[in-house]
Amino acid sequence: MGEELIISLNIFFALPFYTALIIVIGLFFNYKVACFISFAGLTHIVVFLIFKMLEKDRVFLWESPWLIGLSICYMAIYLFIIFLYRNKQVAMVEDVFRNYREVRDKYDEISERYRSVKSGNEEKRKEVNEVEKLYKGLTSMSSTLDMKQTLYECASCILELAKFRRGKMIIFRSPEEQDEKNAEIMDIKTLAGAADKKFGKEEKEIFDAVIRHKDAVYRDKNGKLKIGESCETELLYDIISIPMKIEDEMLGILIFEGVSFGELENVRILIADAALEIRKASFYEKIRELSIVDELTGLYLRRYFMARFDSELERTQKMEMPFSFLMVDIDHFKKYNDTYGHLVGDIILKELAFVLKDRARQGDLVGRYGGEEFCMALPSTSKDNAFKVAERLRIKVMKHDFIVQDEKMDLTVSIGIASFPEDCDNPSQLIELADKALYAAKKAGRNQVCCL
Ligand code: GH3
Ligand code: MG
Ligand code: MG
Repeated sequence: MGEELIISLNIFFALPFYTALIIVIGLFFNYKVACFISFAGLTHIVVFLIFKMLEKDRVFLWESPWLIGLSICYMAIYLFIIFLYRNKQVAMVEDVFRNYREVRDKYDEISERYRSVKSGNEEKRKEVNEVEKLYKGLTSMSSTLDMKQTLYECASCILELAKFRRGKMIIFRSPEEQDEKNAEIMDIKTLAGAADKKFGKEEKEIFDAVIRHKDAVYRDKNGKLKIGESCETELLYDIISIPMKIEDEMLGILIFEGVSFGELENVRILIADAALEIRKASFYEKIRELSIVDELTGLYLRRYFMARFDSELERTQKMEMPFSFLMVDIDHFKKYNDTYGHLVGDIILKELAFVLKDRARQGDLVGRYGGEEFCMALPSTSKDNAFKVAERLRIKVMKHDFIVQDEKMDLTVSIGIASFPEDCDNPSQLIELADKALYAAKKAGRNQVCCL
């Protein structure tokens, strides 16, 4: 029984081994070799059995149905191949094998192509995605005229488009003031205005270099500043600064830390348009400012002042709070113009506006009513308090050194006051009464504060 098992196992392992060998060689190499293997397999079993018979003097072949079956099996394969060969069917078998190989090669080729198309598609999808982000950023930037909003949109678009460790956007208030202290600074990572406007040593150095060269500047591996961008496209910039400019005019600067050359590809496209949008917003801001602020004194123009005055008065009336209005007029201003000329007169007006603004509290409105007349609206201020404010202001002006062309000039003002609710309850009446009070102050000898 034990012997039989060994024989059976030998045959049991021989069968799949030879069968697999025949198939593999037949399919992938040569059918003739496959025939040879099948013959070799048969020989193996026969030789094995002969040895066993000699050893034991017994004919296992006839006693074991396993061995009979296997021998018949190999015989059959062998004969079948011989038969095919004999009947000139070999060509067909060859064809089958060849076709199979061709189909397999084709399959390999197609799956290879599929893989490349798939990865190509992913790349295309990535590109489309980036273009979409870029387009979205550009449209949102151009949809607003507000400077803060434009900068916010620009920064958030950069954040979407590129990966970097730190990023700062510095936008100059005017082309003449190209320094960080007078610039709008935004942290691109947090999309917030930078609280600390002071630059670190490294930032300052690179910032100044960009201003000087009007070109991108980065620090190379040896710590040296290099002008322009690197030619190594694989480079990861430790720090790089790129100017935002229109032709030769610099509107701002971007500083990135830990960013690769490739990541900046779309940012470069964006900033060309962003510069135009920023200039548009700054023009709009300027026009808006000019329509509400007097260019000479920087105070609110009468029309804008009156609009704010009305709403402030309405608000304080609702809250049942007092409200006062001052009309300020320079005494004998014509004399200054006639003696020193209009340019000197302008300088005096500008200086006086500065004094008025300086004395005003937060919430007070200061405007240029016209010519050398100024007005102040003091919300939540009673008539008594307004008088004290006006008196302090009059003394301040009287004591202030108006220096024009190295010459010290004395200047006085007359002030008329009207208050709500003591004097009246509507804006036009308040102005009329303050004007009358001012006239009274003039009449009383000027350099005075009057209320009716
Ligand atoms: P008072 O108010 O004390 O009666 O005398 P005044 O000389 O100030 O009187 P008036 O209001 O008649 O003169 C105002 C002058 O202010 C006339 C005008 O030439 C001058 N003025 C008005 N606007 C401007 C300005 O923008 N610049 C200059 N330089 N002068 C101005
Ligand atoms: Mg005057
Ligand atoms: Mg006047």
